Amino acid sequence: MASRHLCKKGIQASFKRGLLVLPRVAASTERQISSTVLNRASESVSFSFARYINGFGFSSLSNRYSSRESFPTETSVRYFHASRETMARRKEDPDRQLSHRERKKQTVKTKGKFSKREKKTDKPPVEAPYVPLRLKRLEKGLPEKTVDIFEGMTLLELSKRTGESLAVLQNILTNVGETISSEFDTISIDVAELLAMEIGMNVRRQHSTEGAESLPRPPVVTVMGHVDHGKTSLLDALRNTSVAAREAGGITQHVGAFVVGMPDSGTSITFLDTPGHAAFSEMRARGAAVTDIVVLVVAADDGVMPQTLEAIAHARSANVPIVVAINKCDKPGANPEKVKNQLTAEGIELEDIGGNVQVVEVSAMKSTGLDKLEEALLLQAVDMDLKARVDGPAQAYVVEARLDKGRGPLATIIVKAGTLVSGHHVVIGCQWGRLRAIRDMIGKQTDRATPAMPVEIEGLKGLPMAGDDVIVVESEERARMLSEGRTKKYEKDRLLKAEEARIEQAEAKAKETESDEGFVRVELPIVVKSDVQGTAQAVADALRTLNSPQVSVNIVHSGVGAISHSDLDLAQACGACIVGFNVKSGSSANLSAAQASVKVFHHRVIYHLLEDIGNLIVEKAPGVSEMEVSGEAEVLSIFKILGKRRTEEDGVNIAGCKVMDGRVCRSGLMRLLRSGEVLFEGSCASLKREKQDVEQVGKGNECGLVMGDWNDFRVGDVIQCMQPVIRKPKFISSESGAVRIEC
Ligand code: GDP
Repeated sequence: MASRHLCKKGIQASFKRGLLVLPRVAASTERQISSTVLNRASESVSFSFARYINGFGFSSLSNRYSSRESFPTETSVRYFHASRETMARRKEDPDRQLSHRERKKQTVKTKGKFSKREKKTDKPPVEAPYVPLRLKRLEKGLPEKTVDIFEGMTLLELSKRTGESLAVLQNILTNVGETISSEFDTISIDVAELLAMEIGMNVRRQHSTEGAESLPRPPVVTVMGHVDHGKTSLLDALRNTSVAAREAGGITQHVGAFVVGMPDSGTSITFLDTPGHAAFSEMRARGAAVTDIVVLVVAADDGVMPQTLEAIAHARSANVPIVVAINKCDKPGANPEKVKNQLTAEGIELEDIGGNVQVVEVSAMKSTGLDKLEEALLLQAVDMDLKARVDGPAQAYVVEARLDKGRGPLATIIVKAGTLVSGHHVVIGCQWGRLRAIRDMIGKQTDRATPAMPVEIEGLKGLPMAGDDVIVVESEERARMLSEGRTKKYEKDRLLKAEEARIEQAEAKAKETESDEGFVRVELPIVVKSDVQGTAQAVADALRTLNSPQVSVNIVHSGVGAISHSDLDLAQACGACIVGFNVKSGSSANLSAAQASVKVFHHRVIYHLLEDIGNLIVEKAPGVSEMEVSGEAEVLSIFKILGKRRTEEDGVNIAGCKVMDGRVCRSGLMRLLRSGEVLFEGSCASLKREKQDVEQVGKGNECGLVMGDWNDFRVGDVIQCMQPVIRKPKFISSESGAVRIEC
């Protein structure tokens, strides 16, 4: 308690002393303060000089020195915190005193047995160009290697295929809980997968059909085509003729696939109930080659459109045959012949002209021509001689998966080969489960599913993804093990992929933002819509000519037709503006454009469009930072303020200047010129006018200036004040109509 009291008293006393000291300091002479502070300034750049010096009053001093000649023009040469130029000059000075380090160097040279060898070359050192650091790629990228595994392979075979030593594989095998007596012993396909995954390999399961009976199977069909050409309507119409619809007496629930049966022939067709090429390509990407035939829907009143071409490309790359369904033939403007000609022009060899691609004219709305389409598909299937192994463990793919509140995870699968039996343990992708129930497309429980039969399975522990493969395993333990192994591998791959993507993104960004000239580069994404394809292409090409080092024009989409909601969505998603050339956007589209703040440009004259986009580019360009001379002052006199030790070296020289042009700013970069030669460039340590610190001094005014690291002013020196400015590119258009962006 007593000590706390004493302490408190001590603090109060010192506080009072401090208060008493302050007036004393204030009363001390200007010179005393200056000398104290200048002493400090001699230790560091006299940056804080202006804060302490109580005004060095250039005007008052100039009264004392009435003429230029009477100013002290020569200052002693001192090297405190000298610039590079001064240091260079100092080294050439023969009379100078050697520094401590230099003296030490000389003694080292002369004494001892091993003197430092002089460098033979007298070439000046070459400055190595600066190479920016690159992000280090992970040494171990994604495992590229995929090994084929099959039931009953030996450990030696697996070792050869994976390139991993037998000892390592045997070790993992023991950990998995399996024992083999020699490397020639066979292992199951599941164990082979576990081993391969453990050493980081991707696997491709080979399903043997040897000895198994193969029987004809129904085709699996996917419907593709351009948006609004009637894919969904066609699937709806077909579904109404499906087994499920007939037996359930109406429209069935959408479960990813349905079967259309032909009562006469006893055959059937399985349709995947997800229209569009997105689902098709996603399934393919996951290795699920489920589709046997593609129905290409083309509207008779519209013809071949961009997504029609995309669908053709998808089917071709998957090597899947096409059957063309020319839809909307009921419409008055329908022109199936035109569609056929367009398809022929795209390299589709239609039957009509001697090719092997069947064409059927249908109307999804009127449900006409559907039987012909089904016939064509069956004919195509016969041509393909589709067969599948019926006995043995099932091989299947997930078409769709959903979570049912009561029944848990449900997956619609299509059996590719073998027979799926209720009660089996399955592994699907990373998920596993015991098949509690198998239901057909009308929801009737069944105990088995045969090839091309879409069924819904129940009993999984989690939701699989479309395209995942279904494999049947011998026990729950094996299923769990495989699922855990796959999950681990999946997670590892995902992390590696994410890391690779992150590095790639960073690299791409670094490349994009820093062009060779050191500009910061930004992107201007544009969506182009025009009345005809040729014009859209021409507009896109013209816009690309406005590419500049600072702004890169990126045509994210160019298409034909009015500006639609999907264009606005796309533009909003990628921060693009929309260019509508010779097209309109509907009033609702306009509204949502305003809401989404997407810039939409409507033009009919290409030059006006280029001018608008050119101006947008100029607006978007980050510009280049440049130094500009904002003012120029001339040194009229030099004032020396002595430091604490009152020696020449201890003081600071103040340049008494007059601003001749522009304005000199305290924040600017100062450049000292003598007889036109630049002697120094550095920051301004202090700028004063009439004893007052000022931020800037305008033309015709006098000021006192102290420059960091420079003390060697002479009367007549010119001090330029440099300020950074951002220079934007310019949009240049010539009379001939040519335009460009000049940086
Ligand atoms: P999707 O985008 O390809 O799935 O096309 P939709 O099936 O949604 O059909 C787009 C529009 O075309 C809808 O308004 C349908 O009513 C209409 N439509 C589809 N098929 C026919 C047809 O055969 N005849 C006529 N007149 N209209 C059709």
